Amino acid sequence: MTETWRPGRRVVIIGAGPGGVSTALAALKQGYDVRLYERTPDPKPIGGGVLLSVPVLAVLRHYGIDLEGFGSYTRTEFRNARGKVRANLPFNPLVEEKTGIPGWHYGMLRSNAFAKMLDLLPEGILIPGHALDRYEETGDTVTAYFENGESVEGDIIIGADGIRSKVTEQAFGDPGLFHVGVRVWLAWCPQIEGVPPNLGAISHSRHKQASFFPMLHDGKPGFEWWVVEKSSPTAPVPENAEAHVRAIVSGFADPLPRFPDATDFANNMFRWEVYNRPSLPGYTKGRAAGIGDAVHPVSPYAAYGMGMAIEDGYYLMRALGGQDLTAQTVKAGFARYDEERVTYCNHHVELARKLGRMFHALPTPAAVLRDLVFDHTPFLKVTMEKDYLADSEVQTLALSELHVA
Ligand SMILES: Cc1cc2nc3c(=O)[nH]c(=O)nc-3n(C[C@H](O)[C@H](O)[C@H](O)COP(=O)(O)OP(=O)(O)OC[C@H]3O[C@@H](n4cnc5c(N)ncnc54)[C@H](O)[C@@H]3O)c2cc1C
Repeated sequence: MTETWRPGRRVVIIGAGPGGVSTALAALKQGYDVRLYERTPDPKPIGGGVLLSVPVLAVLRHYGIDLEGFGSYTRTEFRNARGKVRANLPFNPLVEEKTGIPGWHYGMLRSNAFAKMLDLLPEGILIPGHALDRYEETGDTVTAYFENGESVEGDIIIGADGIRSKVTEQAFGDPGLFHVGVRVWLAWCPQIEGVPPNLGAISHSRHKQASFFPMLHDGKPGFEWWVVEKSSPTAPVPENAEAHVRAIVSGFADPLPRFPDATDFANNMFRWEVYNRPSLPGYTKGRAAGIGDAVHPVSPYAAYGMGMAIEDGYYLMRALGGQDLTAQTVKAGFARYDEERVTYCNHHVELARKLGRMFHALPTPAAVLRDLVFDHTPFLKVTMEKDYLADSEVQTLALSELHVA
């Protein structure tokens, strides 16, 4: 535990996923006393590869992570199943110059990125084996009660406890989780000869997505690749997942059909049924704030769930600004956090859900029309620029304290 636990500076964080660890690192940088409680005995990130974008990398660099060899620089293309390029993900030269980080998305093994974050936590901050049961707010304090009978009193409580968050359920009620209609098969493999190391492609057939992205695993080059298909809470799961996924990628242009042969399916493929919650109008209540999946679980169409969780922790602590956690400063800081994050994150969640519906739920005649538009007009590129990148670029340019130029 932190040696000091000073009234007015005590930040209790529930959940040591990427969001909780980011919040802890940001809070320590602001001079707060931090205790980070995690229900598992040994926190580990789920899944294989992950894409993180430039603002997230800038935050991680600010915490002290060396970006050299952290992830792979990549150009991203959108393609149809036959390999025809529909759009390139454009880069903003001003963002590149200000942050000193070229491109936009970087691929890496999730466990590698998370391990580097955990390494930055001073000894004793992380308290594993503590599952939150409930919290209580009385006057200017908040007390967290754990299933093992222990409790802790703090000044604020941060719910970073994921999609089934106890903190945000208590603050905002039942989350009303719903299946967004897609399932993801996410896999990774080592480098394959002849596949360029700095090009990623997101490809769509009429009703499926199959994509690949270069990444680094333990510093070595490789690829994450994935398939997205329509699903529902009652959709049967194929008995032979490998055969199912192989059959899907075999319908896509090279190099996609080559990835399965290079993949260790037993250890390096993950299935993800995607759930969301209705968007919240605010992420804070009283002395409790939610971050990451606890307030905005997001479909993989955003490639931003881990990224947004990391950013949230940074923004939340920046909003509190290292001030003593009085009723006034908490109210003002939480209001600023809500102002900076709620519309932005809800937009990305809703956009990702919309993209999922557009690519996987349209009936065939509408899907044919969609593909004609995407194959023969700049519509997709314009949409990505306007709805996906524009706000993120504005936010990144506003984070001047993280700039190098
Ligand atoms: C297969 C897969 C692929 C993905 N790909 C990407 C990607 O490419 N890019 C991207 O940005 N995102 C991606 N995501 C999303 C990303 O993983 C999540 O959005 C991210 O992990 C959210 O971080 P978080 O810290 O908010 O929550 P979580 O990672 O869910 O962490 C919550 C933590 O809280 C703990 N906890 C839960 N309940 C309690 C309790 N009661 N008491 C104490 N501790 C508790 C949990 O054990 C866990 O450690 C992917 C997700 C999956 C499943």
